[in-house]
Amino acid sequence: MNSVPVPFSDLLGALSDWFGASARALPWRSDPSPYRVWISEIMLQQTVVAAVIPYFNRFVETFPDVGTLAAADTESVLALWSGLGYYSRARNLHRAAKILSAGGFPRTRREWEALPGVGPYTAGAVLSVAFNQPEAILDGNIERVWSRFRCLPRSGAYKERLWRLSRFAVSETVRAGLRPSTVNQALMELGALVCRPSSPDCGGCPLAPRCKALLRRAVARYPEKRQRAAFKNLTETVYVYRRSDGRLWLPPPENDRRWRQGTRDFPLSENPRWRPFVRLIGEFETVHVVTNHKILRTAKLYDLSDEAPLTADEETAFVADLSALPHNAACAKTFRECAEF
Ligand code: SF4
Repeated sequence: MNSVPVPFSDLLGALSDWFGASARALPWRSDPSPYRVWISEIMLQQTVVAAVIPYFNRFVETFPDVGTLAAADTESVLALWSGLGYYSRARNLHRAAKILSAGGFPRTRREWEALPGVGPYTAGAVLSVAFNQPEAILDGNIERVWSRFRCLPRSGAYKERLWRLSRFAVSETVRAGLRPSTVNQALMELGALVCRPSSPDCGGCPLAPRCKALLRRAVARYPEKRQRAAFKNLTETVYVYRRSDGRLWLPPPENDRRWRQGTRDFPLSENPRWRPFVRLIGEFETVHVVTNHKILRTAKLYDLSDEAPLTADEETAFVADLSALPHNAACAKTFRECAEF
């Protein structure tokens, strides 16, 4: 005799209970205001929780609300983002803050998705987590959970099928009298803590009674592997000028390669006026990976004589440390290497 399957709404109830007992204490969870949830969700795009926490804390300490963020200059926003990568997120966040500061936090998906840097996932996350609205979300963790839960092949309308499951979960959540805020966060947390990429803890999973991959002993097959695009190799040479007091020249961003995204970095061309005043100290190479680009950087380090002619702007661009400036990881690595010469 076939046993009656556990109703999906019962699974969601078990998932909510599991979240209540097992959720990590994260800084944006203690006070899930729309502002804090929005900041955390933008930071969490393509970045893991552990890396985000110190950035989030510093960010909301400096900009405690949308008004202070909107009033800040872009360079100080980028400075707090330095090291987190994907700097277009910070610039979009700043642009969106100006809109939100003037018009308030919207309550519809359409309005959220119209903001710079906000896509379907972030809109659903802010609306469901901060406003408890019945909006679906789909992040990498939830994708993994659904793909295993239903043994979904990575073909055809794969993404749309995943979204359909998320929407179904939200409608069942409401029907069962549960909170969309809790269930959506629980799904994300389940993917992060239990339905992990490798060695999932199926024994402790509230979805186990109806998980197809578990029932078919096929957990390791899902999510199906995706074809990874080959890395595109780039090379570049940067020119590093060092004064006698050890400060390095980091001029404001040039209109240069897109991956730098407006952060401070060493220039890609020589300063011709300084040619008579420089001495080449050495060259070194570093490698940086940015999405699907592998960048081989050669840095030429020059000592610049104190006799060299400097404009006022050039003078102020010599810095002893990076902490107050928006900079990318490649710049930080080059900066550290220079200390060894
Ligand atoms: S039972 Fe295992 S594979 Fe299925 S959702 Fe839970 S943790 Fe993931």
